[in-house]
Amino acid sequence: MKTNSSRGWRLGLAAVLAGAALVLGGCYGLPKGTAPGMTVGSVSLQAVGAGLVRADAQTLTFKIKCEECGYEPETVTIATPVPGKPYVLDWVCPKCGYRQKITIRAEPATLSYK
Ligand SMILES: [Zn+2]
Repeated sequence: MKTNSSRGWRLGLAAVLAGAALVLGGCYGLPKGTAPGMTVGSVSLQAVGAGLVRADAQTLTFKIKCEECGYEPETVTIATPVPGKPYVLDWVCPKCGYRQKITIRAEPATLSYK
């Protein structure tokens, strides 16, 4: 007969990443009222060089802010990117001529933790 003793409980890192969404004022200036990432259904959208305003399964609205002079043009609405097909835009600031690369990529959102 054997007795199973499960004493080796390891409390690994129970770090919940949900709090990350609360980190505001990131490294680069996001336009007001926008977020660097968003989840739509089972897809997670992440923007670089721009901020996301709103998104659904069909359309995605984002806003650019010039990293050089802070100019904020009108919002841009595109078809929501799908995983494997990121949206890429070489944006040129109409005010100062600064070139900014906008990338919005989509990834399958993994919501289940084990
Ligand atoms: Zn500019």
